[in-house]
Amino acid sequence: MLAVKAVQQHYIATREILYMLEQFRCMMNDCVQIGLDQNLTSLKALSLKAYRQLARYDVMSYYKLCAISAATGILRNNRRAVRHGNKARRPYVRSLRLTTCYGFKIQDGTLLLPHRPRERIRIALTAHVQDIIHGHPVRSVTLTRDKLSLAYAKHVIEISTHGFLGIDRNLDNVTLAATDGSIAKHNLSEATRISATYREVRSHMRRNDVRIRRKITGKYGRKQSEMVKQILHHASKLIVQQAKQKQFSIVMEDLTGIRRLYRRENGQGRWIRGCMNSWSYGELQRQIDYKARWEGLPVIYVHPHGTSARCSRCGSRMARIPEENRQLKCPHCGVSVDRDVNAARNILARGVRFAPFAPPIEAMVQESAAGGNPESRRERVNSKAHESKS
Ligand SMILES: [Zn+2]
Repeated sequence: MLAVKAVQQHYIATREILYMLEQFRCMMNDCVQIGLDQNLTSLKALSLKAYRQLARYDVMSYYKLCAISAATGILRNNRRAVRHGNKARRPYVRSLRLTTCYGFKIQDGTLLLPHRPRERIRIALTAHVQDIIHGHPVRSVTLTRDKLSLAYAKHVIEISTHGFLGIDRNLDNVTLAATDGSIAKHNLSEATRISATYREVRSHMRRNDVRIRRKITGKYGRKQSEMVKQILHHASKLIVQQAKQKQFSIVMEDLTGIRRLYRRENGQGRWIRGCMNSWSYGELQRQIDYKARWEGLPVIYVHPHGTSARCSRCGSRMARIPEENRQLKCPHCGVSVDRDVNAARNILARGVRFAPFAPPIEAMVQESAAGGNPESRRERVNSKAHESKS
């Protein structure tokens, strides 16, 4: 199994690099245009149609191929958005960002990027970056106006684990339930507060000039998202460390359809929908996923339907205790439990159910209770598909 991580550093773009970035941006937009006009999303089809059109660009062919590949990603996202019935704007690339997986070299602490035949741009790597990528092959390079990012890889052997760790991400915390019976919570309310404040500020901006507004939100947004990312990095690091120490597989909800779950018709308030749809919700999962894979820990995804509504002990529908809004009570088996813990246990139980072996734990009780209904059968298929993908 190949695991990939990335490391970043600041750098100062020379005129040559800025020129290349701008060319790359224009090539991507050309490809997106061609893809939209001819309804193409596959790399092969787009290469055939677009490559010759890119002849007028004065850049090396490495970058043409990478621009086509980057455009394919944009076209796929766009097609998915359209299919889900979202109001998708016609995609157009504004930011300067070049990703290449061909032609570069790293030599004596310097990144060498092909620029013209037999001519290379040199960018010095910091000691920190050199240290981190040491011994790992670099798979791709991404340049923006002021940052350079290297994706590096290693082959990992999947650890054979002795248990599972179910992870439930909520609005203001992340709750963990493990097969050894332990429960843990990490507070993330600060991250939620920062993203909520940012949305608030942005919604009050009434500047008429689109360019000014974009500039302000851009700078402000970057600062906010850096802060949120740091909070999430801290939590995801601790979680993966804990799982590694105990040798537990990680179980999380498959959130691919989550945005649809939290749309207007579902009766939630605007504020809560904003939080659930914000990128930070999925970001924690993304971080846990790649950090776990890097350590060789298996990651299992399960269907999110009903994880917060059902009793983690017997599978019945839970009732809210009116005076304590975080507690749920099961009318069937009488258990009273924190709603986040209940959800984490349900996620854990779903992961355990699809495992090749099953440790003897309480969560297994649910198997017999819920095993027969069609909903859980669908879920089984769903999770199988995910496991074979990884
Ligand atoms: Zn119950």
